[in-house]
Amino acid sequence: MKNYMEDVIREVFTDLLKTNPDFCRCEKCKRDVMAIALSKIKGSYAVSPEGEIFARVEQTDRQVRTDALLAVMEAMRQVTARPRYSSDTASTLEE
Ligand SMILES: [Zn+2]
Repeated sequence: MKNYMEDVIREVFTDLLKTNPDFCRCEKCKRDVMAIALSKIKGSYAVSPEGEIFARVEQTDRQVRTDALLAVMEAMRQVTARPRYSSDTASTLEE
C-alpha cells in the first residue's frame, strides 16, 4: 500500500522508456529517475503519512497518473541533462 505511488511511477516510467529508445537503460539512470520523480510527486502532494497518499490516490487515480507522468518526464530530462557515466559505460554514448 505504501508503495502505491512508487508503483504508479514505475509503470509510467516503463511506458515512457518504450517511447524513448534513446534514454539510457542502466540501473543508475533508472534509479535516479525513480528517485527524482518520487520526490517531485511527494512534494506536489505535500503528504507525510503514506496512508494519506493512498486515500487521495483512490479518489483521483487519473490525476495522480497525470502528475506521475509529468514528474517522470521531468526526471528523465534532468537525468539526461546531467549524465554521470563512469568511464566503463560511456563507450557507446554518442551525443
Ligand atoms: Zn545510465
